[in-house]
Parts: sequence; structure tokens; C-alpha cells
Amino acid sequence: MAKVKISNLKKSFGDLEVLKDINLEVEEGEVICIIGPSGSGKSTMLRCINALEEATSGTIVVDGNEITGNHANINLYRRNIGMVFQQFNLFPNMSVLKNITFAPVALKIMDKAKAEEVAQGLLKRVDMVAKADAYPGQLSGGQQQRVAIARALAMNPDVMLFDEPTSALDPEMVGEVLNVMKQLAHEGMTMVVVTHEMGFAREVADRVIFIDEGYIVEQGPPSEVFGNPQNERTINFLNMVL
Ligand code: ADP
Ligand code: MG
Repeated sequence: MAKVKISNLKKSFGDLEVLKDINLEVEEGEVICIIGPSGSGKSTMLRCINALEEATSGTIVVDGNEITGNHANINLYRRNIGMVFQQFNLFPNMSVLKNITFAPVALKIMDKAKAEEVAQGLLKRVDMVAKADAYPGQLSGGQQQRVAIARALAMNPDVMLFDEPTSALDPEMVGEVLNVMKQLAHEGMTMVVVTHEMGFAREVADRVIFIDEGYIVEQGPPSEVFGNPQNERTINFLNMVL
């Protein structure tokens, strides 16, 4: 069974039809990189998977649970899906440790001591142990994003969604965040990553998906999508970004 199954997904904002007919299955442990022009619907698709946006029609099933049309359990469902945003979105008034422990403790998934133990382990994984007591404003962008990844992992998600996680970073910090993501991929995490980092997509993705104007226009292994793109729109896009 696919970890994520999106069928005939459509999403409009008023008269603007953003997602026109998206069909996608993500297997357990698969790393999918989504590329495409600005405004093509990449973020909207991720936000639909995480129920931050309500689909206009179609179905999304994660781990056998249908999100679309089942609003009673949205919070339960969201726990299973980690999301990392371009702008980090850490809680500015909480220490790094508190950022990570807050949700699991508030939702009574762990007691405080257990959550702190888990958080320390996660901080080690993202190489941020020394900053446990710092506040987000005291950290670089790359450090904040590594904490944001640790925070998402604290909920022990089945799937991680990344929406251009390195786009807001100074160039010298991109690598440290991509390295954490690479490590996660190698550990078998199911990941859907919207990114402009074509080197990362080439190296880490099992499948690259090109979205344009609300449709998946082309998909395949990175060697094929980058090495031998078939669709004219993919070719034009890659010519602009590569
Ligand atoms: P991408 O992530 O590929 O750049 P988005 O999914 O963010 O694209 O946006 C796709 C289109 O949907 C854009 O035209 C954007 O302006 C529009 N859009 C996104 N979110 C909203 C919203 N909440 N209300 C109205 N329009 C939106
Ligand atoms: Mg976007």
C-alpha cells in the first residue's frame, strides 16, 4: 500500500484553479523531489497533503487514512506528517529545546522528561546540542532550519514534507540543511521535497516530479528527468534553472 495516495486532486482559490488533476502515489521510504516554476501549485499540493488547505475535490490518503472529507480527525492525522517550511516558523519565544518538546508534551504524547530525552537525541542528529537553550533569534538560518527539522521529527512522523527548506538560507548554510535531509533519506524516511536544489534532487530523489500549471507534466528517476526530459515544458524549465 502506498504511504501517500493522491487521486484526482483539484484545488481552487475562488476562480483560480491551482491544482487541476494531481495523481501521485508515494511508497514507504521513497524520496520524491518536486520541481516546477513559481506559482505552479507545488506549495498548495504539499499544504493539501498536510490538510493546511482543503482539497476542492479528489482524495488524499495517508497511511490508509483519508484526509479529504474527514475533518474530525485532522489533528490526529497531522501528527503523522512532519512539515518543514521555507521560513522555519519556529516559536520565537521558546528555547530550541522547548520548540521541540512543546507539541509532544501539549498533546500528551510524552511527558516532559521523555520529550526532553527525545529532543536531546534529535538535537544530536541535527548537530545542535550546544544550542538547546538558545532562542531562535540567536541562531543562523541554517541552524533554525535544522531545529525545525528536529521539531518535526519529535512527533515521530511517517512522512516528512519539505517546502523549499533551503530557499531562505544564505548559500553557505544550504549544505548543512541538505546534509540533515540526506541523512534522513538514508534512514528510510518517506519524504516529499519541493526544492530548487537540483543537485540534491539528482543525488537523493528516487523520483523527480515536474509540476507546471497545476498538473504533473513529467516524472521519473532523476537520471531520466534531468538527463533526458521528454516534455517541452520540462526542457524549458530545466534550461532556465540548470
Ligand atoms: P508554488 O509553490 O508552485 O510557487 P503555490 O502553490 O504557492 O505555487 O501557488 C499557486 C497559485 O495559487 C499562485 O497563483 C498563488 O498565488 C495561488 N495561491 C496560493 N495560495 C493561495 C491562497 N491562499 N489564496 C489565493 N491564492 C492562492
Ligand atoms: Mg511554493
